[in-house]
Amino acid sequence: MPRKINRAAAKARGLSRYFTGKLCARGHRGERFTLTANCVECKRLSDARYQRSPKGREAQREAQRRYSQTPLGRERTGRYNQSWKRQEARQRYEDSPKGQNTRADYQAARSGLPSTEELLARSRMTPLRIERRRRDVRSAELVASRRANRPAR
Ligand SMILES: [Zn+2]
Repeated sequence: MPRKINRAAAKARGLSRYFTGKLCARGHRGERFTLTANCVECKRLSDARYQRSPKGREAQREAQRRYSQTPLGRERTGRYNQSWKRQEARQRYEDSPKGQNTRADYQAARSGLPSTEELLARSRMTPLRIERRRRDVRSAELVASRRANRPAR
């Protein structure tokens, strides 16, 4: 554990964090940010949650896109794209179900076939229709068999 220093003292000394030993609202006994008095561990968990969310992923993609347009980012991104690490990641993606679907969609789009999205939408609709049709067939068969088995008068 870090040495105890209250917020005012940390502010006076220009420190970004302080530590009192008191628990936060969620029970962490750790440092807090001098600027906001927020718990560092809570912030870490909250950031991780955000980065896993669709909005967080989109923000990450956008930040990477902007970075890759700076001179340094262009060079680093280019070097990364040439690396074995990137090659392996690309291979893993292409072998994954998502990668397979993406490739299938790409090929489908070029040949005018329905995409995975459309197929999924259809499969969500058809089970009901098939069930209804089957029920109709079953009841039609039932009616026919009853007619056939009806005792002659
Ligand atoms: Zn906390």
